[in-house]
Order: sequence, then structure tokens, then C-alpha cells
Amino acid sequence: VFPDHLFVLEFRDQSEYDKRLKAVEYDGNIRHAYAHYEKNRDSLLSAFDNNITTLIGAELSQQEMVRIIRDRLIGKPREDTKFVMPLKIIIMGPPAGGKGTASEVIKEKYGVVHLSTGDILRAEIRNKTELGLTAQSYMDKGDLVPDDLIINMISRRLKEQDCVQQGWLLDGFPRTASQAQYMQKAGIYADAVVLLECPNETVIERISGRRSDPVTGTVYHIKYNPPPTDEIANRLVQRSDDTEEKLMIRLNNYYAQVNSMLQYFPDIVHRVDAAVPMSQVASSVLTALDLVRNPLKII
Ligand code: ADP
Ligand code: AMP
Repeated sequence: VFPDHLFVLEFRDQSEYDKRLKAVEYDGNIRHAYAHYEKNRDSLLSAFDNNITTLIGAELSQQEMVRIIRDRLIGKPREDTKFVMPLKIIIMGPPAGGKGTASEVIKEKYGVVHLSTGDILRAEIRNKTELGLTAQSYMDKGDLVPDDLIINMISRRLKEQDCVQQGWLLDGFPRTASQAQYMQKAGIYADAVVLLECPNETVIERISGRRSDPVTGTVYHIKYNPPPTDEIANRLVQRSDDTEEKLMIRLNNYYAQVNSMLQYFPDIVHRVDAAVPMSQVASSVLTALDLVRNPLKII
């Protein structure tokens, strides 16, 4: 007796599971039952062929689950099934290493919500919120904004429905060992960390040519990714912290923290050479993430 398909519904995030248990008011026995499931799941799954197994995020909406199951039953290849599990990704790298640029490609392919802490903070500054005003004094100097402010901001955002359902891409968070430690303590798990590696001289060249469009938010580079029209070129602005002096402070902060941060993510770090043209960076990043998406490798 062998099934044609095996569908496995699991929560990736302990906090989502806790939320569900609360909502349905299960009694304490469920924890006991869960411990049994956890103990046996790997050997149980290994009894089946990988090709018939589809893991589905239990935090997805009912419609989304039905769609995934239906697609699999009618034989659509797995690659066509978006959000089989909502992917959770962290992208790290030195300032101007190309995180935002690579994030656009990742977002496009996997449908995850791109959360750039730098962009969120700049929006807070534009809106003159209390957080924005506090953050600005640090950002203008190239310093890091205090951990508690950032953690509060990002933890609230990750609980929102779009992040739960589509998965997320954290760009600029965590940026310190204590932010990484917070993730671990709060049970916020990523499937992959993409680490963009880029030497200082490349970063300096990139930062000096970086310009952004205040109307669309698109980031250009005067040499490597020039704006398509004169109209756009004329309205481009340079970030106030994109000076060589502030870059040095930001680079020092990055290299002072990166190794201790990475220790919180054993086994899921994918190093990518980012000192090559954008199209090459994009294809290396997507190749690394495609392996993660193989549902049996996610676990
Ligand atoms: P980050 O988000 O890490 O700060 P960005 O994605 O904003 O970095 O990239 C910094 C600048 O370098 C931008 O102007 C961008 O257009 C440019 N850039 C990004 N990736 C590359 C690349 N692979 N080659 C050349 N320029 C790049
Ligand atoms: P970015 O756009 O990622 O280069 O971020 C711009 C600035 O925002 C940084 O130089 C910091 O001042 C601040 N910032 C962004 N993310 C964080 C974070 N996770 N922790 C502390 N400060 C941050």
C-alpha cells in the first residue's frame, strides 16, 4: 500500500504554532502529542520517496493550501507551485554590497516580503515619527540605531499577515549579535542566510555612485545601473550617509559584528561572491536558494 502523494503540513515558526493552539483552545495533551510527532517525523518521512512528498506551511491560508495541493494533484511541477513553504531569508553583506539589488530578484522569484530596515527607518524619518527622529541622529553619523528600537520595529512587522503568509526577506536585520540572539530567543527561524562577500574597494566604488529615485524608490548606480531617462537622472538623490567617511564607520560596524552574528545560523549560510556584475550575483543567489526550496532540504 503506497500513496501517490504525501502532504505534510507543518508550522515553521513556533510562535505561529502557539498562536494556532491558543486560537483553538487545545488542552495540554497536545504538547505531548507534538513531542511524539517531532521525535518520529524524520524516520517516518524517510520511509517515503522524496518525490511524492510536499511540505506545506501550516500557517498559510486555507485557499493557499488548497491551491498547492490541487496543483500537485493535477501534476504541475513543484517549481510552479509558489509558496509551497513560505521562505524565510536573511541577506547580509557590507554596506553597498548589493543587498537591496539582490533582494529585488529574490522578491520577484519567491514572492517573499522584502523588509529593509534601512528603508523602513528612512520612511519613518520622512514621516517625522518619534522613531524616525530618534533613528536619524544615529543614521546621520553612520552609527547603528539602538537594538531595542530595531527589534521592536521588526518583531511587530514580522507578525503581520503578509509576512506570515508569503515568507520574508530580512535585509539589514540582524545587524548585531544581540539582534541575532533575539531572533533565536523569539523562535524566529530563517531557512537561509545569503552572505554577500565584497571587498572594501568595490564597496567604496558602489557607494560613491549610488543614487536613488525619490519618486519610485528605485536604486541606481551612475556607472553600473544608470537611470533609463534624463528626467529620472535629474531627480536622483544621494543618501546623506553615503560618504566615504561614514562608510568607514559603517564598514567597521559590519566587520565587528558579522562573525558573531553568523554563529547564530549554523548550517544555513550561503556565501556568494558579490564583487561581480549584478546578473552573476543574481544567478548565484537564486541557485543557492533553489536548493533551499527543495522541500525535503528545508527541514
Ligand atoms: P546595499 O543594499 O547592500 O546597501 P545596494 O543594492 O543599494 O547595496 O547596492 C549599492 C550600489 O551598488 C547601488 O548603486 C547598486 O546599483 C550598485 N550595485 C549593486 N550590485 C552591484 C553589482 N553586482 N555590480 C555593480 N554595481 C552594483
Ligand atoms: P542601510 O540602508 O541598510 O544601509 O541602513 C542605513 C542605516 O540604518 C544604518 O547605517 C543604521 O544606522 C540603521 N540601521 C538599519 N538597520 C539596522 C539594524 N538592524 N540595527 C541598527 N541600525 C540599523
